[in-house]
Amino acid sequence: MAAKGERRGSATSEWREARNARARARLDKALPAVFPPLVLRHALSRPFVPPTPRLAVESYWRTHVLRADRLARGLAARSGHPEGWTWRLGPKEEGLATSFRIPPAPFREPAFARGRGHCCVCGQPVFRFGWHEDLWGTGEPNRNAGWHAACVAAWKFWIAASDHVKLLKARQRHRCSETGKRLLRTAEVDHRVPLYRVWREHRDAPWPELLGYWGLPNLQVVNRAAHAGKCAAEAGERAAHRRQAADQRGTM
Ligand SMILES: [Zn+2]
Repeated sequence: MAAKGERRGSATSEWREARNARARARLDKALPAVFPPLVLRHALSRPFVPPTPRLAVESYWRTHVLRADRLARGLAARSGHPEGWTWRLGPKEEGLATSFRIPPAPFREPAFARGRGHCCVCGQPVFRFGWHEDLWGTGEPNRNAGWHAACVAAWKFWIAASDHVKLLKARQRHRCSETGKRLLRTAEVDHRVPLYRVWREHRDAPWPELLGYWGLPNLQVVNRAAHAGKCAAEAGERAAHRRQAADQRGTM
């Protein structure tokens, strides 16, 4: 049995080596004279080497998702708060999010969109391979692109931070940020300032700052019991707030 398993293992690794040799050849052929060295190094060290520069860039940001989060927020800060824009919820057709759980994206709204060649997440120009800097000195954005590879990775992180619980646990040195105890296997990702409060109390904050509530600055991993306690307290607080709002309406 063991021998069979080993044979299968070595067949797999031979297959992978052959596959990677082909991928490296394809990548090498497609690679422009200028390419971010960090991305290339990352690509060549993958168990499955990405076969195109574009896939290499995507793989890089997918792996370095916290770097993508920081970069996307930095690019948004460069764009600044679009004049006349306010965070609203509404129908998808108007480019609006239907829930306050989705990060606000002004450049997805037709009235604020900056057009092709600009990122719909951060508003900044997009260059070759979805890169955020004009490394090639073309002087203009890539008209076929509508987003940065980094911003796509950041967006996925913002809307599903729990997919990255392992990464976030490691950042906290496996300690629960509510109790200080060791994080258990069932620990959960939590928004320090819950998103309903971001919507309720921080809605008018400058847009680039708002994004921070979905990013690393507002994320923590807590043990399930502590998280349940925090969620219950938040639910109680929301109910009290609703009652208060209803009373105010009643007395008006
Ligand atoms: Zn972007």
